[in-house]
Amino acid sequence: MNPLSRRNAIKTIVLTTGALATSGALAQPAATPPEVFKLPALGFDYDALEPHIDAETMKIHHDKHHAAYVAKLNAAVAKEPSLATKTVEELVTHLDTAPENAAVDIRNHGGGHFNHTLFWQHLKKGTGGPQGDLLKALEQNFGSFAKWQEQFGDSAMKVFGSGWTWLVLRKGRLVIENLPNQDSPLSTGGQPLLGIDVWEHA
Ligand code: MN
Repeated sequence: MNPLSRRNAIKTIVLTTGALATSGALAQPAATPPEVFKLPALGFDYDALEPHIDAETMKIHHDKHHAAYVAKLNAAVAKEPSLATKTVEELVTHLDTAPENAAVDIRNHGGGHFNHTLFWQHLKKGTGGPQGDLLKALEQNFGSFAKWQEQFGDSAMKVFGSGWTWLVLRKGRLVIENLPNQDSPLSTGGQPLLGIDVWEHA
């Protein structure tokens, strides 16, 4: 190899290596975690629940708060990729066996994502109240639908700070439970049927 061609060879290697380094950097955008979990659509217009819940509250709640829970849960997945193979329901249900570096994120942001997803699905105006098996179960466990409404409302008034009041199916019975922050009945073996988000909507 003559000196000139060796210089060309070195130049080529430097350029190629530089190009590889550049394309490698472009292929790994550092600040954008994978979108494993997605913000579900609200399913109705922001003003659909007025005058009970105003459009602005719905918009802030869905587009800002719920979106932030999803984004932070995705950031947790970026740190702990094993989370990506589970549904949010599985993650929150098995909080006790969560990887140590992800447990707090699952509890807060996974809980926030799951709880709000359930919440949007249950909001509806003018339904006329529960019927069939749910009505029977409410009557058996609380005496009547009106009594359940009263107990559920009383319980929600007792939530201190931020939290939820839940109607939970636990060991075959319907119970009303208050939980702080974004904790979910799922994490203690209960099946949440209906939740009211207290504090932010109060
Ligand atoms: Mn909320």
